[in-house]
Amino acid sequence: MSQALQHTRSFRLHDSTLWREQAYLAGEWVEADGKGRLSVTNPVDESELGWVPNMGQGETERAIEAAAAALPAWRRMLAKERGAILHRWGELMMENQEDLAAIMTLEQGKPIWESRGEIAYAASFLTWFGAEAERAYGDIIPTHLEGRKLFVQREPVGVTAAITPWNFPSAMITRKAGAALAAGCPMIVRPATETPFSALALGELASRAGMPKGVLSILTGSSRRIGAALMDSTTVRKLSFTGSTEVGRILLSQGAETVKKMSMELGGHAPFLVFEDADLDLAIEGAVGAKYATTGQDCLAVNRFYVHEDVYDRFAERFTEAVARMKVGNGMDGDVDQGPLMNAGAVEKCEAHIADAVEKGATVLTGGGRHDLGGLFFQPTVLGDVTPEMLITQEETFGPVAALIKFSSEEDVLAQANAVEFGLASYVYTENYRRIWRVSDALEYGMVAVNTPKITGAPIPFGGVKQSGLGREGSKYGLDDYTELKYVCLGGLDR
Ligand code: NAP
Repeated sequence: MSQALQHTRSFRLHDSTLWREQAYLAGEWVEADGKGRLSVTNPVDESELGWVPNMGQGETERAIEAAAAALPAWRRMLAKERGAILHRWGELMMENQEDLAAIMTLEQGKPIWESRGEIAYAASFLTWFGAEAERAYGDIIPTHLEGRKLFVQREPVGVTAAITPWNFPSAMITRKAGAALAAGCPMIVRPATETPFSALALGELASRAGMPKGVLSILTGSSRRIGAALMDSTTVRKLSFTGSTEVGRILLSQGAETVKKMSMELGGHAPFLVFEDADLDLAIEGAVGAKYATTGQDCLAVNRFYVHEDVYDRFAERFTEAVARMKVGNGMDGDVDQGPLMNAGAVEKCEAHIADAVEKGATVLTGGGRHDLGGLFFQPTVLGDVTPEMLITQEETFGPVAALIKFSSEEDVLAQANAVEFGLASYVYTENYRRIWRVSDALEYGMVAVNTPKITGAPIPFGGVKQSGLGREGSKYGLDDYTELKYVCLGGLDR
């Protein structure tokens, strides 16, 4: 631990101006009105990394006013000019990838190689939407009315807001801001309390890329007070939220008052199905990636591994061996597979799920509790003999605990896989092409990964069904949530 601590404190950014301790309000770097500040800590040792302004209603109202003032010019700007600013912003992210990755690992804890990957992923949304800005096509509808022409055009919804989580501190911002800004909508971003520095560094780079004042604000501080000011505003026409289903429900009900457009990227509870004809090498490699990335704190993380009874023992043994080899430590050390959890609540939830499962008959195959490194470090864990009445099969664990469940028939495993309120991502391993289509059709999930754990990227529509969310982010559909269709009927043409 002491070595990890030293490593953290001695770290220097190549460009120290990317470390911002003020909020980015309408193009200016500012303190909170009352000068209140919030401390941000490193999950490796819970040491203090720095401070950010504790903003609330007043600052949020100013950001909304500035966004409304910036809207007319921003939406009028040629799409290719808006796109060029987004492209430049994305390029600047990649030019500063090493610093941005370090900031992310320091405040979030994920291994530095994962942070580098997230920065590239996050930047790709800016270049993707920079190009999509020019493709916001409308339609001409074959007329059903004599002497009239019917047009449909896309218009920006207006001022928008984003509330984002700590597990992907950069990508969850650019996935929203890229689409909003490309569509011609200014955006106010409120990043998670635990990871504001990644967000503020993005503000600095947006400013360098030539973002006009007011088009983007990044406000740190109380989520409830900033959230309430955004939700109460009739000027804010849309909220895009990524976070838990629980908070998503609160925001949906708050948004009802002003009838806001809402996008929700909420919790997941991914099933991972290993059939008897699966390529087990591929399945085991995929299982490790799909469970333990970001210390299991990923909405795509597998919560339930369903393994056919014919291959269950072999899968359990080899998967457990692979997990037991994982190296846990400070994410700033290059060769670490898993960093710490984000906070004490996350550690307690893992412990509660393990205790409940063990009490109801599960076996701990590896790990099982807090790591010797102490603090927020947790052992990569595998539980065997998990059954449907255990908490872990229903609630999102959001930590490095894998639950193995034996199944005997396709019908039975599909019923179990679909028996949760969530419907974000699912994984299937089989070599049978008929089964691939049958099972992909039957899974009640927004995304199905077949024989691979890696499915995300700017070109794909990311999102869930059931209580995992509303709307899609990324892809050619990503602009839809930030535009309204306007129908224009041009009459009198036959006179
Ligand atoms: P969270 O507790 O729901 O928080 C998400 C964000 O909402 C944070 O910025 C939080 O602020 C803010 N917030 C909390 N209560 C609020 C309120 N009453 N009004 C306004 N804002 C409020 O989720 P988290 O623990 O950060 O993230 C984990 C969850 O996100 C998991 O369920 C995961 O599955 C989900 N997730 C989903 C996706 C997806 O694309 N579907 C992607 C990533 C994560 P504070 O930081 O101040 O609490």
